[in-house]
Amino acid sequence: MEQPKKIRRPRGKAALIPNACIACGARCQSSCPTDAITMNDKGEPIIDTKTCIGCQQCVKVCPAQALELYFTPEELKIIAELDDASSTQAEDQEEQLTPEEIELNAYLDGFRGVWVFVEQTDGTAAKVAWELLGAGAKLASSLDVELCAIVLGDGVENLCQEAFRFGATKAYLIDDPLLRHYRTKPYAEGICALVDRYKPEIVLMGATGLGRDLAGAVATHLKTGLTADCTGLDVDEKRQLLQTRPAFGGNIMATIFCEKRRPQMASVRPHVMPMPCRDEKASGEIVRESINLTEADIPTKVLEVILDANQADDQDIGEAEFIISGGRGLLDKQNFQLLRELADELGGVVGSSRSAVDAGWIDVEHQVGQTGKTVRPKVYIACGISGAIQHLVGMQDADLIIAINRDPEAPIFEIADYGIVGDLFEIVPAITQSIRRAKAAQDQQSHSL
Ligand SMILES: Cc1cc2nc3c(=O)[nH]c(=O)nc-3n(C[C@H](O)[C@H](O)[C@H](O)COP(=O)(O)OP(=O)(O)OC[C@H]3O[C@@H](n4cnc5c(N)ncnc54)[C@H](O)[C@@H]3O)c2cc1C
Repeated sequence: MEQPKKIRRPRGKAALIPNACIACGARCQSSCPTDAITMNDKGEPIIDTKTCIGCQQCVKVCPAQALELYFTPEELKIIAELDDASSTQAEDQEEQLTPEEIELNAYLDGFRGVWVFVEQTDGTAAKVAWELLGAGAKLASSLDVELCAIVLGDGVENLCQEAFRFGATKAYLIDDPLLRHYRTKPYAEGICALVDRYKPEIVLMGATGLGRDLAGAVATHLKTGLTADCTGLDVDEKRQLLQTRPAFGGNIMATIFCEKRRPQMASVRPHVMPMPCRDEKASGEIVRESINLTEADIPTKVLEVILDANQADDQDIGEAEFIISGGRGLLDKQNFQLLRELADELGGVVGSSRSAVDAGWIDVEHQVGQTGKTVRPKVYIACGISGAIQHLVGMQDADLIIAINRDPEAPIFEIADYGIVGDLFEIVPAITQSIRRAKAAQDQQSHSL
């Protein structure tokens, strides 16, 4: 007997929402697997609907949520029919579930909402919290739930308002002098109490020193899963969080699920997710809660806060717009001076590969990559760095990558926008000199005017 023809679910076509594009630098174009996007003079995408396959890559990567999927009325009708058919199928399947499966589904259904922890020190929020609100907004919209912020600290109500400007619609606030400085116990217990009470299905935290400590403590207490250092987050049709991160030394990307416990917890390193747009006028609801602890219940005491001398002196590579990075090709500690000189001319900072750190040529604070920092500068200049995957995961989102390497086959050239094949000891000083000459000529010109 001939099988009835299977109706395929329409995938739609990407479409630009009028006036929403912020001309971020063609992220949508570079994400498109079918080259369906070209950019106009204003830096906005033009989508070739014949070539677009509705894969949603551009929709997901857009930091301004300026792209959406467009469906024709006929396609919308097919989708509605398919949804009806699948809900009947789901009801049929429900009847065949075991009592354990029914119990599990009821437990999972008790959790709703996406939460982002707003990490702060002395009342200043870590930027990663806002990046996570950007990522959380996409998850919340796919799940059709609220995006909420969790704010803990002493005198930090203003951070709730800031969280609204970055996309949250509700903020759970615990404002208490006990939370003046970060300590694991009161912060973890505060968050666990909020989770027990309001039951979110997803909790996201920054993979900073503080976030790593807190996320582990919270997940352990709640007996749920935690995926650290995710580089991608998405949800599937079963409301499961798809948590993607490098595994096996960065050689594969693994997508991890937490099937039977809630909330699903993930941490993401700073600069991995793009910053969302800030809406000055946005507002939301603050839910005030208190903490059920006294100072006597907390074993750790903060006697003094001493700033890390390295952090106080050096500009953080995570925040830098220009990074000049050196690897084993530098051959020696002293040779990093060549990179410092170029960095000074460009107003940038020096980064490095792990090999250079392991060799003792530069401090680990400068290391870029899987076990170092993730960076998103405007310009990244890789000097004498081969381009191992563990290095690339930390810098591949730079707006412009320039690689200098004497090996034309070096993998770094595969992701570089500009590649210079040659000896860095000749090329780097030559670039520095030409910048100095250009600046001197500019100075002379402005003096003679
Ligand atoms: C679990 C794990 C985590 C890791 N995490 C990180 C991480 O966070 N960050 C990281 O960077 N690495 C990391 N690594 C190490 C990574 O695998 C590579 O070993 C490392 O990145 C290589 O550093 P490199 O490119 O400086 O050195 P090499 O791979 O030795 O490359 C040196 C390059 O310099 C070029 N060169 C030499 N002389 C010159 C010259 N005169 N002019 C121009 N070019 C020259 C060579 O052609 C070569 O391509 C990790 C590894 C593992 C297993």
